[in-house]
Amino acid sequence: MPGHLNILLLEDVAEDYELILRQIKRTDLDFTPKWVQTKNEYINAISESCPDIILSDFKLPQFDGLAAMEIAKEACPDTPFIIVTGSIDEETAVSCMKAGAADCILKDQIMRLGIAVKEALRNRELQVEKKSAEAQFKKFYRAVEYSPVSILITDLSGSIEYVNPRFTEITGYRREDVLGKNPNMLKSGAITDEVYAELWKTILSGRVWHGELHNKKKNGDLFWEYASISPMMDDMGNITHFIGIKEDITEKKRFEQNLRQTQKMEAIGQLAGGIAHDFNNILSAIIGYTSLINMKIRNDDPLKVYADNILMACEKAANLTKGLLVYSRRNVTDFTVVLLNESLHRVERLVSRLIGEDIDFRLDLSEQDLFVNADSGQLDQIFINLCTNARDAMPDGGTLCITTEEVFVDDEFSRIYGFSKSGMYAMVTVKDSGNGIEPEQLEKIFEPFFTTKDVGKGTGLGLSIAYGIVQQHGGHITVASEIGKGTEFHIYLPVASNGHQLTQHVAKIDQSKHGTETILLAEDDADLRKLAKELLVEFGYNVIEASDGEEAIRMFACHQDSVDLLILDVIMPKLNGMAVYEEISRIKPDMKTLFISGYTADLMHQKGIAQDKFSFIQKPVSPSVLLRKIREVLEI
Ligand code: ADP
Repeated sequence: MPGHLNILLLEDVAEDYELILRQIKRTDLDFTPKWVQTKNEYINAISESCPDIILSDFKLPQFDGLAAMEIAKEACPDTPFIIVTGSIDEETAVSCMKAGAADCILKDQIMRLGIAVKEALRNRELQVEKKSAEAQFKKFYRAVEYSPVSILITDLSGSIEYVNPRFTEITGYRREDVLGKNPNMLKSGAITDEVYAELWKTILSGRVWHGELHNKKKNGDLFWEYASISPMMDDMGNITHFIGIKEDITEKKRFEQNLRQTQKMEAIGQLAGGIAHDFNNILSAIIGYTSLINMKIRNDDPLKVYADNILMACEKAANLTKGLLVYSRRNVTDFTVVLLNESLHRVERLVSRLIGEDIDFRLDLSEQDLFVNADSGQLDQIFINLCTNARDAMPDGGTLCITTEEVFVDDEFSRIYGFSKSGMYAMVTVKDSGNGIEPEQLEKIFEPFFTTKDVGKGTGLGLSIAYGIVQQHGGHITVASEIGKGTEFHIYLPVASNGHQLTQHVAKIDQSKHGTETILLAEDDADLRKLAKELLVEFGYNVIEASDGEEAIRMFACHQDSVDLLILDVIMPKLNGMAVYEEISRIKPDMKTLFISGYTADLMHQKGIAQDKFSFIQKPVSPSVLLRKIREVLEI
C-alpha cells in the first residue's frame, strides 16, 4: 500500500466533488484531498507541488480534462491523471487514454474509482522503477563504454561477448573482429603457459586474477597490460561470465626500464671512472719508471726493445682509460656552437673511405640549420663510432643512412625516456641494414667493454664513449634493432637557442682550419692514420704517410724539401716518435713537429717531452682540435 497521498481534485460541481471524495474514503488509502474548481486554482496547485495523483472532471468551465492533462504533463510528468466524468463519448475517452490518462471513469461507474486510483499509483511506481533502472543501466553502460581501461567480457568457455571502445583503441581490433573469439588471439608468446594455467585456475575457482600480460595488437605491435580478470556470477553463485579489466602499461614499463638502465649506466660510469682514474695513476708510475729505464740504458741495449714494448702497451692502456673517462664524463670538453649538418658532412667525408664501397652511405640532412652547443671533436667521435659499428654489422654490404631533423621532446616523452628536460632537440638517426642486435644484448651495448667482436677487433668502448658524450651534452641516445634487418640509433642533442646568429662565425672558424702545407704523418694505427689523412686532405693539406718510425725517416728523406710539418705518434714500432724527431732534426733542424700521444700532458712530461718545447695532442684525436693545433704549430 502506498504511503500518505496528496490527491488533487479538479471539479467545478460541489456535489460531484463530494461524490468522488466519498468514493475514495471507502478505500484504505491514507490521503489529503485538495479541491480546485477553476483553471487558475488548478495551475497554482500543481505549480506549488506535484500531487501524487490528479482526478479531474472532463467538462470544465474554462477548459476540459484533456487540456488539464496537458498542463499536468508539462508540470508534473510522473503524476497519474484520471478523468472522472458524468458523460463522455467513447471517442473522447479513447483520445484521453491515448493522450496519457491513467484511466477514464464515468460517474455511474464511480465504484471503480478506488481500484483505478490504486492501479494508477502502482503503475506509476513501476514506471518510476523502470526509469531509474534504465538510468542506472545507462550509467553503467556509459561507465564501461567510456572507461579509460579496456574491458572485455567472455562467456564461461572464454568466447568474447563484449569489448569496449578502449579495447579497440589499444589493440586495433574492432568489436566485430573479436566477438565469438578467444582472448588468447592476443597472445604475443612471451608469457609462459604456466601463467595462463594459473590464471584459469584462479578465475574458475571464483577468485580474481591480477597480473601482467604481454600481447600483440592487430598491426603486430607488442604491448604490456596489467589485467584483473574476475568471474561474474548469477544469483545462485554460478559463474556465467568472466570480465577482464586491463590497463595499457607499455609506457610505464618503458619508463621503468629506462630508469633502471640510466641508473645502471650511472653506477657503471662511476665505477669505470673511478677505476680509470686510479688506473691512470698506476699507469703514470709504470710509464715514468720505464722511461727512466729507457734513459739509463744505451740505445743498443737489448732491454730497450722490452722497455719500448712496455711503453707501447701503456699507450694502449692509456687509450682505454681515456675512453672510460669520456664514458664516465670526467674528461674536459670544449663547447662551441656547432652547425650539426656541417659536422655530419665532415663525418661523411671521413667515414666514406672507412666503410668500403659495398656499403651505400647516404646523408639525408634537414634543410633547416640545426645548431647545437657541443664539443665538435666529440660529436665527430660519436658518429665515427656509430658508423664503424654499422660497417662491422654489414660484412656483405648494405646501406648506412644518417638523417637529421629538429624534434620537440614534450614533457611526457622526456619523462618516459629519461631526458634531462623537454624542448627542441636535434635528432640524428644513424640507421644501418646490418645483422642487428639480439634483444638480450640491446640493454648491454652501452656498457663499457661489452663487445661481441673477436678479440682484437672490438674493445667494447665505442658505444660507451658515444653514450658518455651524449650525456655530457645534455642529450640522449636510444637504439632499436631487429635481427637480420638492421639497427637504428637516435641521438638527441638540445638545440642551441642562439645558434642561428652564429652561422657566419662558425663558417669562419672552419675556414680558419684549412691549409695547403705538406704534412708527414707517422702513425702505426692504420685506422687512425687513414682517418687523419682523410681529414687533412679534406682541409687542403698534402699528406705523406708512414706506418712506423723507420718508414717516417725514409719518407722524410725522399720529400725533405716539401715537408712543412711532422705529425708523429709518440710510441711506434721500430723507432719511436722522439727518436724519429731527433733523426730528422739532424737533417733539418727546427722541423715543425706535432706529437700525438695516448698519454696525458703529465705523462708526456715524464717521458721527457716538455710541453713548452714540443706541441702535442692527446688521443683519441678530435678532428677539430687536430686541425686547430696544426694551424697553431705552422703559424708559430
Ligand atoms: P665494439 O665496437 O668495440 O664492440 P661498441 O661499444 O662500439 O664496442 O659496441 C658494442 C657492441 O654493440 C658491438 O660489439 C656489437 O655487438 C653491438 N653493436 C653496436 N652497434 C651495432 C650495429 N650497428 N649493428 C649491430 N651490432 C652493433
